[in-house]
Amino acid sequence: MTVVVLGGAGYIGSHAVDQLIERGYEVAVVDNLQTGHQEAIPAQARFYQGDIRDKVFLSSVFEKETVEGVLHFAANSLVGESMQEPLQYFNNNVYGTQVTLEVMQQFGVKPIVFSSSAATYGEPKAIPIKETAETNPESPYGESKLMMEKMLKWCSKAYDMQFVALRYFNVAGAKWDGSIGEDHSPETHLVPIILETALGQREQVAIFGEDYDTPDGTCIRDYIHVVDLIEAHILALEYLKAGNPSSIFNLGSSVGFSVKEILQTARQVTGKEIPAKIEARRMGDPSTLIASSEKAKTVLGWNPKQTDVRDIIASAWRWHELHPEGYQSKK
Ligand code: UDP
Repeated sequence: MTVVVLGGAGYIGSHAVDQLIERGYEVAVVDNLQTGHQEAIPAQARFYQGDIRDKVFLSSVFEKETVEGVLHFAANSLVGESMQEPLQYFNNNVYGTQVTLEVMQQFGVKPIVFSSSAATYGEPKAIPIKETAETNPESPYGESKLMMEKMLKWCSKAYDMQFVALRYFNVAGAKWDGSIGEDHSPETHLVPIILETALGQREQVAIFGEDYDTPDGTCIRDYIHVVDLIEAHILALEYLKAGNPSSIFNLGSSVGFSVKEILQTARQVTGKEIPAKIEARRMGDPSTLIASSEKAKTVLGWNPKQTDVRDIIASAWRWHELHPEGYQSKK
């Protein structure tokens, strides 16, 4: 029996593939390599290069493999880009999920664990954010993730199919040996941008806004280690395989750090100066996003281990030091 990982060559998907293999699962990776890296896929996984929107292609994968479940990471994920190119997000994310569900239904595959986002909530009314909070996405990206969740919900009611949607907060870090990690182009996320600056690849870090309603004026986010995040996916898959009902869970560490605190911690971890300057706010950034992850802990038995933000940054730093040019460094 095989677990199919859609988007398994990407940052988060590749950490899922790695952990699934470590735990003895058979894994097939589906990725169009639009943003993923073939170098991130281990030799033990079977790799099918193609697009999930291509039904003939995706069906051929399900024909070759005996699929026990799907982990779905194949989506575009840049908030800013989605504001400029909403149709790209609806096409790739929403239509890609449509085809995935059609193929799962056709082959009688029941469980799907879906990579969702805190962007489904929009500006929160209360902190920490619970799964029962209102969803008011403020970008086509967040809207597409919410639409994908709704598709899963209705399909799970109509067909013999169950889902877990995992709403991620700020994912960072890398596998401890630094062999796989975050390599986006362009990079927009705070932790890799800070570490690229520590490596001297950027002149300085732009801090987007110092006038938020937070103790130091910069935005507060809830950072979660990618390996802990994946642990929750595997628990979710086992939860569904055990016959439990479809559900939605937040994944965060339940602790918030400001942009300045992350920068200061990165200076300590790397021993580098890391110059920074204050710039204007970035459109659409809420001041504070902190998850309540109680539900994942209680229902899935999730127990995140890398809860110290220094460890999260240290693991990302190891990856960056070993791969200053990302996956290109290997070539
Ligand atoms: N941020 C920043 N400078 C950057 C990138 C991000 O000040 O170059 C801030 C951003 O405004 C937000 C936080 O860092 O408050 C985390 O941003 P990121 O893009 O990593 O994740 P998001 O919270 O948008 O998912």
